Amino acid sequence: MVAAPTSIEEASRLLAGLEPEQPVRIVGEGTNQEPVVAGSLELRTTGLDWIDARVDDLTVAVGAGVRLSELNAVLAEARLRIALDPVADGTVGAMVATSAHGAMVWRYGGVRDLVIGATLLLADGTVAHSGGHVIKNVAGYDLAKLVCGARGRIALVGEVVLRAHPRPQAERGVLVASGPAELRTLLEVSLAERVEPVAIDWLAASTEALVVFEGTERGVEAQSERLERVLRAHGIAATELDAARLDAERTARAAFRVPREGVVLRLAGRASRMLAWLERTTAPPGISFASYPGAGLVDVVADPGGAEALPALLDDARREGAVGEVRRAEGVDDAVGFGLVDRFAHPLVTRLADELDPERRFR
Ligand SMILES: Cc1cc2nc3c(=O)[nH]c(=O)nc-3n(C[C@H](O)[C@H](O)[C@H](O)COP(=O)(O)OP(=O)(O)OC[C@H]3O[C@@H](n4cnc5c(N)ncnc54)[C@H](O)[C@@H]3O)c2cc1C
Repeated sequence: MVAAPTSIEEASRLLAGLEPEQPVRIVGEGTNQEPVVAGSLELRTTGLDWIDARVDDLTVAVGAGVRLSELNAVLAEARLRIALDPVADGTVGAMVATSAHGAMVWRYGGVRDLVIGATLLLADGTVAHSGGHVIKNVAGYDLAKLVCGARGRIALVGEVVLRAHPRPQAERGVLVASGPAELRTLLEVSLAERVEPVAIDWLAASTEALVVFEGTERGVEAQSERLERVLRAHGIAATELDAARLDAERTARAAFRVPREGVVLRLAGRASRMLAWLERTTAPPGISFASYPGAGLVDVVADPGGAEALPALLDDARREGAVGEVRRAEGVDDAVGFGLVDRFAHPLVTRLADELDPERRFR
C-alpha cells in the first residue's frame, strides 16, 4: 500500500483514518530506508512539495518532500542557501529526521541549529506546530528540536522552517596529506593561525584531508596560501584544488560515505577525544574510517563482511565518551540490520515513541 498526501491536512486525515496497529513506513526519496516491517503502509512525502522563502528574513518554510538541491536552487536566485551539506541529495524531511549534515557542520552547526520551526504529525494524525520565521524564537517550547535525528520514530515531519545564509562569493579546496597525527596538527593550525576553513573532511583510506575555505576571491586565496605555508613549516604537504578537482573530491567522499553495500556507523564525541581514538585505533579488516574532525564525528564504514566487528569498535569508542548510531545497513541480513539499528537506538527516542506512538505505528 502506498499513499502520497499533498498537504498537511490530507496527511493528518490519512493517519487518523488508519487501523491502530497499521505500521507506517515514511519515505522521502527512499535512499536511506531501514529494513521493512511486513504489511507497512508506505507514506511518501514527495507530494509535500512547497517552498515559501522569506528572503528579507533569511528564512524559508519548506514541505518535507522537497529535495535539498531543489530548495537551494530556489534560494540561489536570492543569493542564499541552506548551509548544510549532507552527502546524499535527499528530502528536507529526511534530512531533519536523520539529522543529516556534512563537513560544514563545524562552521554552521547541524540541522538542529538551522531548523527554527516545524509542523509535525503524530501517529494518530494530530498536527503540532512550533516556531516559525523568527530566527531567535524565545517564546514557547521548541518542538522542532525533538524530531531532529529521531528517524521518524516520534512523528512525521510535514514542514520545516529553516534559517538561510548568504551564499559565499568564492570557495577554495586544499588537499592535505594527513594521517591521524597530521590531522591533529591541521586542527591546531586551523585554530591558532587565523586560517578559518568552513570544513575539514578526512578520509583514512586516502590519508588526505579536504579543507574548504569560503569568502571573497581574495579572501579564499589568502587563506589557502597561508594554510599551505604554515603546514609546510610542519613538514606537511598541501595542494590547492581547482573547482573541478574540488567537485571530484567531494563526489569521491560522498560515494565512500554512502556505500551500495555495508553498514555505516556514525560515532560522535569530543573532538579531542575522537582524534585520540583515531590515533590509537587500527581499523579491522573490511572497515575504514572517515571523519569531520573539528566536529568530533567519525564515520565507520564496514563492508557486509566487516559488520560483525562494529559492536566491539563502538564499545571501545565509548571509553572515549563517544555515542554511536547506525546510519545505513545495506546488503546485510535484515536481522543483522534490525539488530544493529536497535542496539544503537537512543533510549530516550524509544521512550518518547512509546508515549507518542503507543501502537508503534512508526516503529
Ligand atoms: C541515523 C541516520 C543518520 C544520518 N546522518 C547523516 C549525516 O549526518 N549526513 C548525511 O549526509 N547523511 C546522513 N544520513 C543519510 C541521510 O538520511 C540520507 O542521506 C538522506 O537524508 C536520505 O534522504 P531520503 O529522502 O532519500 O530519505 P529516506 O530514505 O526516504 O528516509 C530516511 C529516513 O528518514 C525517515 N523520514 C524521511 N522523511 C521523513 C519525514 N518527513 N518525517 C519523518 N521521518 C522521515 C524515513 O522513515 C527513514 O528512516 C543518515 C541516515 C540515518 C538513518
